Amino acid sequence: MHRLQLGDFELSVYSDGTYPLDGGAFFGVVPKVMWSRKLVADEKNYVTAGLNSLLIRTGKQTVLVETGMGNKLSSRMAKFYGQPAQLLDSLAAGGVAPEDIDIVINSHLHFDHCGWNTVRGQNGKFVATFPRAKYYAPEGEWQYARHPSERDSISYISENYDPLVESGQMTLLKGGEEIVPGISVRTFPGHTAHMQAIVIRGSQNPHPLAEDARRVGHPPDFSHVPTACYISDLMPTTAHIDITWGMGFDLYPLQTIESKKQYYAEAVPERWLTVFTHDPKTPWAYVEKDELGKMVAKGV
Ligand SMILES: [Zn+2]
Repeated sequence: MHRLQLGDFELSVYSDGTYPLDGGAFFGVVPKVMWSRKLVADEKNYVTAGLNSLLIRTGKQTVLVETGMGNKLSSRMAKFYGQPAQLLDSLAAGGVAPEDIDIVINSHLHFDHCGWNTVRGQNGKFVATFPRAKYYAPEGEWQYARHPSERDSISYISENYDPLVESGQMTLLKGGEEIVPGISVRTFPGHTAHMQAIVIRGSQNPHPLAEDARRVGHPPDFSHVPTACYISDLMPTTAHIDITWGMGFDLYPLQTIESKKQYYAEAVPERWLTVFTHDPKTPWAYVEKDELGKMVAKGV
């Protein structure tokens, strides 16, 4: 069980399971002789990917970041990915019931990030898996998901989000919003155009002087508390922390590089804890620059 205290907040990782992913697609243009030093591929060239959701207890709200792959893949997709569908069991084993979740945040709307947003209800209609929760997802993602390119249309399953948008249970985000005090989203384009990372400042109480700043329009100042970031598919595993090691799935690989630079410019000096969606072994780590300028992941 991965759990830690981040300031006033408690963070824990719950997994929807693991699934096989083509190693070449996972590492894009990086040669296999290089990536195979970090991840072992099987005879079909598959590596094992994880599906890590992050549960945040702020003391006031219980927030779930990302909902895994879910249980409604087509048989064609299930042939490739299986359908681990373990998130609800993992949460239950940790004493978390669907009714306990107040807020669900999706970084983007690919099937492996919002799969448990909904389940098929008794009348065959799709309903919220977390009945009391307010859901949030990037508006640009949702717009794009209505008319995706041929390249990635298979990644969007409208039942994961459209029923929630229609019922008003899902709020669409522009980017930069603070969802509850201490938890905000930030757009990092690259994997998709509108993917949002979730930044967690471990307190609901901004700096004592921040009320003055807020009054004159400045964002709240949480610089005194430790920070974590659910970075999603900008760097899906600890093996992807090098600036140039992007995924073949990235729609805008050059923007992935720019976004990583931007992220590191803040996250490295401020020592943010980075949370990795698809790392089956190391769901979170501190990313540092070593003496040679190479990015290294230091486990917790
Ligand atoms: Zn993903």
